[in-house]
Amino acid sequence: MPALFAFASGLVFGIGLLVCGLANPAKVLAFLDVAGAWDPSLLVVMGVGVRPRTDLAEAAGLKVDRGILVDERFRASNDRIYAVGDVARFPWGGENVRIEHFSVAERQGRAAAFAMLKRALEIRDVPFFWSAHHDVTISYVGHAERFDEVVVKGDLDARDAVIGYLEGGRVRAIATINRDATSLRAEHAFEDEDQTTLRSLLA
Ligand SMILES: Cc1cc2nc3c(=O)[nH]c(=O)nc-3n(C[C@H](O)[C@H](O)[C@H](O)COP(=O)(O)OP(=O)(O)OC[C@H]3O[C@@H](n4cnc5c(N)ncnc54)[C@H](O)[C@@H]3O)c2cc1C
Repeated sequence: MPALFAFASGLVFGIGLLVCGLANPAKVLAFLDVAGAWDPSLLVVMGVGVRPRTDLAEAAGLKVDRGILVDERFRASNDRIYAVGDVARFPWGGENVRIEHFSVAERQGRAAAFAMLKRALEIRDVPFFWSAHHDVTISYVGHAERFDEVVVKGDLDARDAVIGYLEGGRVRAIATINRDATSLRAEHAFEDEDQTTLRSLLA
């Protein structure tokens, strides 16, 4: 669903927008699918989503499911081939997940190198990302590709909140807005698989 979020500075953050066209690059004129909502004199910064390029892996006969499937040592279905980073879907929290984050890619590269040398480097890192927009810091820890309940603690309008994404009563991910300490506590609780603490952060 398209959404627009306005900041006091005048910045408007749009999510899920379909860019129908850009004209006159010198002036940066944008046409978006939010009828009449755009002022052509505005500067537009466009971040376009990406997809993992798995065609080579598929051609090589590796198992692929929206990313190259790997085990906990980042071995693909042919154990002489390793995959890490954005392109890899790895086991975490009882499912296979794919994370787009540069530090996750770096850590997985180290783990794959250890595995190639027949040495173990267990990766227990909880998936996370953060993003800062002016005075708003959003942190997300855990992984909730699916959820059936969203719990909001705090005040979204005041940009001071904790948001929990649950599936079957189990906290799968926690997002925070301007509450970094809570995000760190959530990360530790996910590492310890401590659902009691995770739920207490949302109470
Ligand atoms: C717009 C944008 C903003 C982002 N912002 C952030 C951010 O703020 N913070 C953050 O943590 N992450 C961010 N990311 C995600 C981050 O860039 C990725 O998670 C990270 O780069 C993944 O590293 P990687 O090595 O897995 O893949 P990549 O960095 O994509 O490297 C893969 C490389 O493989 C090459 N390649 C592909 N196919 C072949 C082939 N057949 N033969 C040889 N080479 C090949 C590609 O050209 C590329 O150079 C952002 C991504 C995008 C697109």
